[in-house]
Amino acid sequence: MSERSSLRVYNTLTRTVEPFVPREPGKVGVYVCGMTVYDLCHIGHARAMMAFDVVVRYLRSVGYEVNHVRNHTDVDDKIIARAKALGKGGLEVSAEYIAELDRDLDAVGLVRPTVEPRVSTSIPEILEVIRLLVEGGHAYQGPSGDVYFSVENFSEYGKLSGRKLEDLRAGERVEVNPDKRHPGDFVLWKSVAGAATIEGAEPCWDSPWGVGRPGWHIECSGMSRHYLGDSFDIHGGGIDLIFPHHENEIAQSECATHVSPMSRYWLHNGHLSLGGPDGAIKMSKSLGNVITIRDLLASVPAEVLRLCYLEVHYRSPLLWGQDVLANATGALDRLYQAKELVEEVMATGTEAPIDSLGEHGEEVFVLASAFPLRFRNSMDDDFNTAAAMGFLFELVRAINRFGNDRKRRRQGKLALAPVKEAFRLCSEVLGIGGYVPAAFFDELKVKRLGPAVAEVEAMVADRAKARAEKDWAAADRLRLELESRNVVVMDGAEGSTWRVRVS
Ligand SMILES: [Zn+2]
Repeated sequence: MSERSSLRVYNTLTRTVEPFVPREPGKVGVYVCGMTVYDLCHIGHARAMMAFDVVVRYLRSVGYEVNHVRNHTDVDDKIIARAKALGKGGLEVSAEYIAELDRDLDAVGLVRPTVEPRVSTSIPEILEVIRLLVEGGHAYQGPSGDVYFSVENFSEYGKLSGRKLEDLRAGERVEVNPDKRHPGDFVLWKSVAGAATIEGAEPCWDSPWGVGRPGWHIECSGMSRHYLGDSFDIHGGGIDLIFPHHENEIAQSECATHVSPMSRYWLHNGHLSLGGPDGAIKMSKSLGNVITIRDLLASVPAEVLRLCYLEVHYRSPLLWGQDVLANATGALDRLYQAKELVEEVMATGTEAPIDSLGEHGEEVFVLASAFPLRFRNSMDDDFNTAAAMGFLFELVRAINRFGNDRKRRRQGKLALAPVKEAFRLCSEVLGIGGYVPAAFFDELKVKRLGPAVAEVEAMVADRAKARAEKDWAAADRLRLELESRNVVVMDGAEGSTWRVRVS
């Protein structure tokens, strides 16, 4: 247990890197704001969920028992608009998109959260927080029937984002609403005319304040409190949620429970950016520049997407472009060539002393032996996956250099033995390197070439036949043709195999 204390995390609340100390030794409660489910998820959304997938995996790998809660916002204006357009119930539409989201996130290799509560099934716990706020004088019902949180009542309002209440006065971005006592006040319960029904496009429920539905911010205060208690360890989400969403969550929860802090550590991931001044262009439906998870995974294996995220620190912006994807594909191709080599030597090689294997053999042994500690130190440094990936690919390059020494590599079992643990760590914590190499190469072939895979297979077989018949002209012609399709043929003792050239 003492080893765990070496983890340090950047806390948005204090704006400093702090030692990570959970409330209860050995246990960590994590709440992450999930998706509003009215469409397919894009790779910008996936970055947030991926960042906290790695946080949770790492905490578990060092021995913490983690309760990971991520909500589904299944009641929201955008869902209601979608449902009306489709002539369906709001909860029907959101349930469909939750199923699609599960499918996509499973495909990216995200570990499912411990609990995934939905707004529609958390109404009692949400109403309970509103009741505490109204009774404590922190919330009021406006003339229209909507219930609002009163920001002037919470002296610490703004402590997460650093914003001042004065800045929220009307005139800037806050719309003037005569219903509110202060322009920064936000809705907790939105009144809906008519009878309570959960089947319609706009689902609504009975409450002490009339028929309505919860506002966005209150759902997270209700759900986090229900599953993790009045105070828990880590609250996560995208940097765009700091204000107003997370600021408002803190205000609601701390005023309702009188327990502070609501969350000890606030972690925020950077955007996926498509360029522009200061990386301001984000992926969004309204800009028409969306790449869905599903579209992307049609062209590359899932680990390629994971690696794109992991090569940048989770708090930094990730500048997206074709080169990012191409570099990650090339890096994984080299990683699986290294893994294939290691597996082959461990299965059929011999154990020569390390100092007899030349500088490349020794280098592999040194880097692989040092890897677990370097990996741990990187991850303890605010989950610095970029540094961890740097060490991994330094090791991969060394293995492939050693692999070029065909004579000595056969004797390299001792030198390559510690590589197994390095690869295991990356697979367990980061979801990288977990494929059987042949499966990775096969998936790459199918995703790169599509139906042309069968054609390439036939050409490789024709070339092998030509070689067997010593028809060198035909064999060369086929090799050139295959090369023009970015196919590399490797001739071995047991026949010819082929790979897609990616870099
Ligand atoms: Zn939230």
